[in-house]
Amino acid sequence: MMLTCSRPKILYAVLAALIVSGLSLPGRFVQTANAQQRSVRERLVERASQITGDDFPVYVKTERGAHVFARSEPRREVLDAIDDGLTELFNIARRHGYRARLDYSEYFVFIARPDRTKDSAGAYSPDIAIPAAQYAGSVYDQGGYIYAAGMVMAYNPCAFIIAEHEHDLARITSVVRYEGEHLILYHNDRSLYERTADHSRGGGHPILQ
Ligand SMILES: [Zn+2]
Repeated sequence: MMLTCSRPKILYAVLAALIVSGLSLPGRFVQTANAQQRSVRERLVERASQITGDDFPVYVKTERGAHVFARSEPRREVLDAIDDGLTELFNIARRHGYRARLDYSEYFVFIARPDRTKDSAGAYSPDIAIPAAQYAGSVYDQGGYIYAAGMVMAYNPCAFIIAEHEHDLARITSVVRYEGEHLILYHNDRSLYERTADHSRGGGHPILQ
């Protein structure tokens, strides 16, 4: 497992203590680490709820350790699709020599209620509506909002929102990989991140081949 500087310091202390002593920890250390993790999660859930208008009562981890928040218990296949997207992303990132944020546990994924399930051409496309902001007046603008397959929500820790899918779970894998590209670039290649973060100026995904 890779540790990065964005983790709460107490977590290092706890891990170091575990590795060095192999003994059980005094209760207060564990409580402090748990409390810090909990407050990070609470802040993220609050933000995701503000953006989507959804509640996220369910918290689960994927088999590989990514954090997932959802409105209802996600199917195993959905969690696997998220892991697959991160695996693809990490493999591509390694090929580019990137080293930061290549651990599943550093990612927080919110699965929101889709605001539409079909695109303008009628194809299955569960998307979330978000304020148009810099996309106002662009081809994406639907009248003050745009539809997005995914949206980066936070960079520290890495968090993004995707929509619930009934089928076509391969699309989840793609969306995870694509939203993850912004996060990987933010932490590994800031100038490429700056050039590619805003799709209203052109350019889409994949950014990294
Ligand atoms: Zn993007």
